[in-house]
Parts: sequence; C-alpha cells; structure tokens
Amino acid sequence: MRIVLLGAPGSGKGTQAALLEKHLGLPHISTGVLLRHAVAEQTPIGQQAKAIIDRGELVPDDVMLDLIEERLAQADTQQGFLLDGYPRNLAQAESLDALLERLGRPVDEAIQIDVDPEQVIARIEQRAAQEGRSDDTEEVLRHRMRIYQEQTAPVVDYYARKGLLTRVLGEGSVEEVLQLILSVLSMDERGAAP
Ligand code: AMP
Repeated sequence: MRIVLLGAPGSGKGTQAALLEKHLGLPHISTGVLLRHAVAEQTPIGQQAKAIIDRGELVPDDVMLDLIEERLAQADTQQGFLLDGYPRNLAQAESLDALLERLGRPVDEAIQIDVDPEQVIARIEQRAAQEGRSDDTEEVLRHRMRIYQEQTAPVVDYYARKGLLTRVLGEGSVEEVLQLILSVLSMDERGAAP
C-alpha cells in the first residue's frame, strides 16, 4: 500500500508514521528526516537546505523531487511506503503523481491527521525540549504554521478531489490515533479486495 500522511507541524504524523512502519511493514519516508540527515552529512543538498530549514521555509520543489525520486528507487519501497512531509504544496503533489504514474505505483490512500492548533503548539514545545531541533523555536514554528496553511492545506483538498482522502482526529492518545488510522486502512483494504 502507498500511503501519504498529511497534517500540520506537531499533528503527530511523524510519530504515527513510525508506528505504522512497524505495524504495516512499510518503509516510513520522512522528507524532514532525509533533509536533516543530508544537513548532518553536509551533502550538497544538505548545505543548500540548512538555512532554508532553519528559517522554516520550504526547500525548492526540484530538490525535493530529486530526493524523493532517489528514495523511491530503492528496493524496499516496492511493496509500498508511508510518505511523511511530502508533498507539501500542490506542485509537489502533481510531480509526485507524475512520478508514481511513470513508475506504475500510484498513491492508494491519503490520511489527514486533524488537530487543534493549541495542542500543536504544546506538542512542539515538548518535542523541542526532547529533540532540540533547530527549527522548533517559537518564531520559526509560527512561520512553518503559516506556510502550512498557505501551501500545504490545499494538498488535503487535492487528495479529497481524487477520492483518496480520509481525515482522522489526532487528539486522542498516540495509541488511539494509531488504531483509528489502522481501521481506516483495513477498511480500505477490504473494500479493495476482489
Ligand atoms: P518536517 O520534519 O517534515 O517538519 O520538515 C522539516 C523542514 O524540512 C521543513 O520545515 C522544511 O524546511 C523542510 N522540508 C521537509 N519536507 C519538505 C518538502 N516536502 N518540501 C520542502 N521542504 C521540506
């Protein structure tokens, strides 16, 4: 199954993707993790991306497409994957569709995790204390939330129009939200079964 996970910064999609990876046996592909790795390794992409990430802005679409195309060429994605943090705007959603169509592996399911913005701020503050991410300061977070509203929120409608979107409420415990997502996926799998 090829799944796109959507949600605002702090919605818990990274946490859920990591759990779903174990439950479903599918690779969790987080573009944020790929980029932070590239920054730590000081690769050319990492050097280009660092200042952009630290400002809370989006890394250019062509760079992201190269990164995701390279990742999807790896053998572990043949059985499916969980995308977390990509696509982040409409241009990326369209590029991803074109790429996956070329590969004959279209998106099966998009899941939007909805959370109240107040909860998001509290979760990010907690994550900042635990992980020490350089882009988890209050000012950068505010900027990332604005970019999410302007650029990423339309991606939710994009998948809704394609009939691929399910929304889940992300406000319960981690385990409750996981069970909600698993039940959505198993219902769809049953629906798709011959
Ligand atoms: P995340 O871990 O998904 O919150 O991503 C952290 C940062 O990496 C974002 O604020 C962006 O600067 C960058 N980033 C991650 N994914 C993308 C993407 N699909 N397009 C552009 N920039 C991205």
